[in-house]
Amino acid sequence: MTKLLIIGPPGSGKGTQAARISERLNVVAISTGDIFRANVKEQTELGLEAKKYIDAGNFVPDSVTNNMVRDRLAQADAAEGFLLDGYPRTSAQVDELDSILGDEALDAVLQLTADDEELIARLLKRAQIEGRADDTEDVIRHRLALYHEQTQVVVDRYLDRGIVRQVDGLGDIDDVTARVLNALGQNV
Ligand code: ADP
Repeated sequence: MTKLLIIGPPGSGKGTQAARISERLNVVAISTGDIFRANVKEQTELGLEAKKYIDAGNFVPDSVTNNMVRDRLAQADAAEGFLLDGYPRTSAQVDELDSILGDEALDAVLQLTADDEELIARLLKRAQIEGRADDTEDVIRHRLALYHEQTQVVVDRYLDRGIVRQVDGLGDIDDVTARVLNALGQNV
């Protein structure tokens, strides 16, 4: 069973690469951002609760997020392995994931890197195409600041465990996929 996490700042291409890796490795991709957005769209109770945080670029409270991830990982398709995207993104969420996984710890963490100005440019471009409410410049800068303040420590904790593979997220999407698969020891 392959248990992976992909982590990187907003705009680093996590979602795009996650879809490709999950297909290639035949494991389910679990994106907390996608689950939240689907719930917002369907106007579920969870979506209505989460929307105000997401639109402002803030984290949805752990009381909501942790339960959602716990439930998702308990579903049958995750028993064969999974690729988490967007969780954990705080140190407290790392503790929670550790408790969910127990002895079945993550195998590897893929960190996608890119500098802030590139990320802002990409997200502003995406805003014109997709129109995500949290892709305005102010909210993008806030999400990036939160990444540096709260999510970098998640990477640091996994670095201490020796399971992080760093991949340069700059360049052509296919090239990044090749780098990612290489970092996971897959033939490309
Ligand atoms: P990005 O990495 O570009 O910010 P995501 O799709 O991963 O995009 O997340 C979008 C939003 O969903 C976040 O800004 C946050 O509001 C919410 N979210 C996603 N994952 C989490 C999480 N693990 N904890 C709290 N909030 C989350």
